Amino acid sequence: MNNKVTIIMYHYVRDLENSRYPGIKGLDTSLFKGQVNYLLRHYNFVSVEQLIDANENKTALPPKSCLLTFDDAYIDHFTNVFPVLNQHKIQGAFFPPIKAVTEHTVLDVNKIHFILAAVEDKKQVITEIFKQLSLLRKEHGLLPDETYYTKLGIASRYDSADVMFIKNLLQYELETGIRNQIIDHLFVHFLQVDEKSFSQELYMSEGQIKYMLDNGMHIGSHGLNHYWLGKLTKEQQRTEIEASVEFLKRIGVDENYLSICYPFGSYNSDTLELLPEYGFKAGFTTEVDIAELTEEKMFTLARLDTNDLPKEENASVNSWFLKG
Ligand SMILES: [Zn+2]
Repeated sequence: MNNKVTIIMYHYVRDLENSRYPGIKGLDTSLFKGQVNYLLRHYNFVSVEQLIDANENKTALPPKSCLLTFDDAYIDHFTNVFPVLNQHKIQGAFFPPIKAVTEHTVLDVNKIHFILAAVEDKKQVITEIFKQLSLLRKEHGLLPDETYYTKLGIASRYDSADVMFIKNLLQYELETGIRNQIIDHLFVHFLQVDEKSFSQELYMSEGQIKYMLDNGMHIGSHGLNHYWLGKLTKEQQRTEIEASVEFLKRIGVDENYLSICYPFGSYNSDTLELLPEYGFKAGFTTEVDIAELTEEKMFTLARLDTNDLPKEENASVNSWFLKG
């Protein structure tokens, strides 16, 4: 019996060229449609509920099963993704960070994306960061600029060394208070926008999320503050999980099918202990692979990135097709 699922992860899906920040790293809506058509030709779409039922041996999964997941509740998902999924009767799984949606804040990680998208020359951002570090260095015992750059400025699959330095330094290296202070400074300095109105333009509202749920989409937890769960104490994690469950119940999510997508893919043994306690049945990570539905792996489901698969309807299958 098939227990493999190709789970695909999406973030921004928008008409990039005509958007306010064309430099944002996102998937163009036309390519999203192309990828859905490609998947329709070669895969069988399944829902989160089907995954959970399959794990509990209630139903079998079709061969070449495929599930689409969307992180962070961007407005893109409501305007650009939902109509496409609805048209083809495909279920998408959406994971809203609660505070951003209900209190109209902007996630640090999104502030960083838009700072990077707004500033062509990344050296300007780095210069501004170094200025801030020099102001804070003595009081907080910060390391020399070059030490941070050497440690963190390492190019990744998708980003240059400069971009990775900025992301790594501001996403986790510095302690939270200092990170927030620098990110907020850069956000105001380079974007000159008000956080609340920016948030309302960037994320779906609670009403829009509920509308998608009522129309067959799956809504899961993505924490309250979008923290790295694996770096929190068990009690802090409990707060994150509890608040998200409360939100999910409020909008009417079926409590028998709770799922979580770990912010930044981060979790630890405390997380895995807490989730079943709150009735969760599945957890999505950022490990790049085909997911396997086994008892041990239901809370550490791997996902592919949209960039791992073809985005044209008529493209031939790639190596992930054979593995899935
Ligand atoms: Zn996220």
